[in-house]
Amino acid sequence: MREGKTGMEYYSTRDSALRRSASQAILQGIAPDGGLFVPREIPHVDLAELIDLDYCALAAKVLGLYLTDYSEAFLRAAAQKAYGAGRFGDLPAKVVRLEDGLFSMELWHGPTCAFKDYALQLMPLLMTEAKRINGDTSKTAILVATSGDTGKAALEGYRDLDGIEIAVFYPDHGTSEMQRLQMATQEGKNVHVFAVQGNFDDAQTGVKKVFTDAAFAEDCARENKHLSSANSINWGRLAPQIVYYFAGYFQLVHSGAVQLGEPVQFCVPTGNFGDILAGYYAKRMGLPVSRLLCASNKNKVLADFGSSGIYDADRPFYKTASPSMDILVSSNLERLICHESGDCGRTARLMQELAGQKRYAIDNELLEKIRAVFGFGYTDEETCFAEIRNTWEKDGYLADPHTAVALSLARQSNRAEGPCIVLSTASPYKFSGAVLAALGGAVQGDDFADLHALEEMTGTQAPAVLRALRDKPVRFTQIIAPDEIRSAAEKL
Ligand SMILES: *Cc1c(COP(=O)(O)O)cnc(C)c1O
Repeated sequence: MREGKTGMEYYSTRDSALRRSASQAILQGIAPDGGLFVPREIPHVDLAELIDLDYCALAAKVLGLYLTDYSEAFLRAAAQKAYGAGRFGDLPAKVVRLEDGLFSMELWHGPTCAFKDYALQLMPLLMTEAKRINGDTSKTAILVATSGDTGKAALEGYRDLDGIEIAVFYPDHGTSEMQRLQMATQEGKNVHVFAVQGNFDDAQTGVKKVFTDAAFAEDCARENKHLSSANSINWGRLAPQIVYYFAGYFQLVHSGAVQLGEPVQFCVPTGNFGDILAGYYAKRMGLPVSRLLCASNKNKVLADFGSSGIYDADRPFYKTASPSMDILVSSNLERLICHESGDCGRTARLMQELAGQKRYAIDNELLEKIRAVFGFGYTDEETCFAEIRNTWEKDGYLADPHTAVALSLARQSNRAEGPCIVLSTASPYKFSGAVLAALGGAVQGDDFADLHALEEMTGTQAPAVLRALRDKPVRFTQIIAPDEIRSAAEKL
């Protein structure tokens, strides 16, 4: 099923002449011109060949189509290491039925209790192998801007890997207490954690600046060091997420909810547009997806974009109960615009407008193309809380606030377009206080007390890794300004 003799090439969303192999794209993270790497072709699959594979074999197969300069043997072993042996519960990407036509795909049974583990358990292996393939003996410094979950998942994935240092930057007061503690207590010799004054976009912009700073790159080269990213701007982050769209669909086929070939919808709680974009690749590869529903929280830049064609990040930023979606600049939308417009020059101009004026507008033709595949909507805080309560009372199902944002939208979806699978992206116990409040419980303000109260109230059990955080020593307490990210990166 491999494409072409030379393998898959990647180019920058801002310059189609800027080409890299898969392993080079993963090593670099972001293109030197500030663009994101995208595959030159999107491979097509035969569903019948994939449907009976277990998750590890499916991952190796799907990834092999994109990561053509990695050997099949390596990808099989890496997938086994990342997803084998019950590391994501009894069945990775398990789909749970809530009601007729509505399903939840639980992506949070990995080591840090959020879906980002699917990418970040595998990506460090892809990175180390990329260095080997390219004869790269330099030290790799990974910089991560996080709204909460990426940081912990990346720290856990990269800890104690030889030749790699990782620094994570999260918005001070911008994460849940449980998320903060997960990062502040991180173990490992090569890990660094900083709170950044400001919101997620300040942290992300600060990190992006370091990546595109030519002088900084020269300094690094002199020290035989190179920078890379674990954010979903890195293709190695995005590609592993394509796999579970297939896995979820096949479970519906096996259970008889759809026949092979019949369409389904996916509804995705969205922040940086990475997770849902993986669904877009799956659809273009031949997965029968009638619609990808992009669910935003109160920071509804994407929902407004979907209705007006105007991407406007110049607006107030709200902190919500779904902090991993508190994002105004959704980086991966750039990839979609590049694919759907087929025009790197235009993509580059739009992104320059975004950087300069914090907004851009696309024309109607492009908007209609996007709307043919995507639906957009948002859920405000009150509705999100009501959804958590409703889902618990009606379906006996405990949803975290991110999942609830999507569930609320999914319940309004047009079922004529097929059953809807909601991507459940985090354990409800990562956000115990919010979930407890939604259920009408007495919130104590202490995350561990809330966790316990939530267990008592619902008769469900918190993941052991979250309960264990209480007794772990805090290692990182430093708070820095966005313009200090550069000097923090220099020290890696
Ligand atoms: C990161 C995250 C999201 C948003 O995913 P994107 O790929 O950034 O769109 C949603 N929910 C949770 C729990 C997350 O951690």
